[in-house]
Amino acid sequence: MGLTGGCMCGNVRFELKSEPSDCGWCHCRTCQLNSGAPAMAFASVRNGDWVATGGDDSIQTVKTSSFGHRAFCAQCGTPLYVRVDHQPATVDFSIVTLDDPGAIEPEFHIFWGSKVPWFNPGDDLPKHQRFRPDTPGLEGTEPPDDSSLVGGARA
Ligand SMILES: [Zn+2]
Ligand SMILES: [Zn+2]
Repeated sequence: MGLTGGCMCGNVRFELKSEPSDCGWCHCRTCQLNSGAPAMAFASVRNGDWVATGGDDSIQTVKTSSFGHRAFCAQCGTPLYVRVDHQPATVDFSIVTLDDPGAIEPEFHIFWGSKVPWFNPGDDLPKHQRFRPDTPGLEGTEPPDDSSLVGGARA
């Protein structure tokens, strides 16, 4: 059995069918506004490996940028996961929605360029101003630019 988690109200429950990878902090403006916090921490699993085991009909999705779609619990508002158009093979879920929020640890920071000035994580992890150079789906291309979002949002 894989890692399990759920939303604040307990309506939405999920299980991961594979080991998560690419765990990192995102400091983009969309994450800040979506979470109400300075940053969000995500990890990736293959598309289809984040499986709702309860409350599936309460999961709603909002388009948050030209390429990003975010799912949340319609009952309590907890952000659950993000899908981005340039990474159709994976889904990025919020690691603190795991029942054990410490089960996996961030390995890098992205969108450091829009970090809130008073938020100072005390780690030595790699810090990228926007996307990581090796972001899956962006090899050999310029990252998608969504200038309609303040601060160069991620998704
Ligand atoms: Zn909920
Ligand atoms: Zn973000």
